[in-house]
Amino acid sequence: MPDLSFPPPMASGWALAGAGAALEIDLDAIAANYRLLDARTGAATCAAVVKADAYGLGADRVAPVLEQAGARVFFVAHLEEGIRLRPHVAPTARIFVLHGPMTGTEALFTRHALLPVLNSMEQVANWRAHATQAQKALPAALQVDTGMSRFGLSEADVATLAQTPAALDGIDTKLVMSHLACADTPQNPANAMQRDRLRAMAARLPAAPWALSASSGIFLGPDYHFNLVRPGAALYGLAPNAQTPNPLRPTVRLRARIVQRRAIGAGDGVGYGLTWRATGPRRIATLGIGYADGFLRSGAQGGCAWLGDYRLPILGRISMDSTTVDVNDVPESVLDAATHVDMIGPRRSVDDVAHDAGTIGYEVLTALGSRFHRTYRQAVACDASPRQNKASV
Ligand SMILES: *Cc1c(COP(=O)(O)O)cnc(C)c1O
Repeated sequence: MPDLSFPPPMASGWALAGAGAALEIDLDAIAANYRLLDARTGAATCAAVVKADAYGLGADRVAPVLEQAGARVFFVAHLEEGIRLRPHVAPTARIFVLHGPMTGTEALFTRHALLPVLNSMEQVANWRAHATQAQKALPAALQVDTGMSRFGLSEADVATLAQTPAALDGIDTKLVMSHLACADTPQNPANAMQRDRLRAMAARLPAAPWALSASSGIFLGPDYHFNLVRPGAALYGLAPNAQTPNPLRPTVRLRARIVQRRAIGAGDGVGYGLTWRATGPRRIATLGIGYADGFLRSGAQGGCAWLGDYRLPILGRISMDSTTVDVNDVPESVLDAATHVDMIGPRRSVDDVAHDAGTIGYEVLTALGSRFHRTYRQAVACDASPRQNKASV
């Protein structure tokens, strides 16, 4: 039998009825994924990447749950994200800011107890000057570019620093890190090349823990774990690669409201451009979710929703606020009892949606809209309110 119990008739009140779709985020599944990754990486520290508002799932709710599961080190991309995250984790939790300090923002890092990832000689020099001013050593990570050409010190920069160690005076190096370009294709020779380059470059820098892998890199094996790993996507249930079964638990369920049902006849067109036409009598349904909700137009062709075990193919184009699906195979009694259908759920993962839209799960998750009725599922309640203690490093 299809799961028709959603929503409990009166429980959620007008807020659910007032939204076109409901997004349920399973905090227990996120915690379970953290524990799986932590166990898988043995002695290495398992950090947690919560940039982009925890990949769209809400960093203020997700980070405390990760902390409860054991995470002590967090990564965000921007200073602003770090400042927002700071009150939601313990003062002793480390928050690294991947993009490092833009010139002139150094003091904000110290004020909010954030650790910059230094990516260039300019950032190194500015952080050092800031430390001189503060009259104490200040913690930071050093990023080295091992082949992705995106962030980090070049081999020439590392050689310069090795020759003039004073350039790092006042910098308390907490981590030396790099990032893999091809970790989701395990057989790619670029992986081993980057790993070996990290070893060579990090050996020339001050002694500190080394880190290379994000989610996919963890599944390349212990050779890639070094002292710390930085998963993001895997925490949120995305598959580390397309070759092996996904060991992680799904963390989101997205249900769209059935706003209207209708019967159409042969020759009737559906949606903008009338790109789909019925060849005979057809029962269809209009759902309250569209591309403004991050449900990408490119996902219409081949895309579908599910009502229990009934597959509902998307018909025609996705509109801004609505999507039309084929419900012809669903018995009337089942439709009568249903208020919502699954866009992401037991029969359709985030990665499936991404595949049909010609993109990756990361893009689908981070594009999920802001007007859903959002709920968080958590068996053991946890205090997610901002902490009172002032952070310090
Ligand atoms: C985003 C990011 C991560 C997390 O990557 P996932 O593939 O989501 O696990 C880790 N490290 C760096 C440098 C990143 O930019």
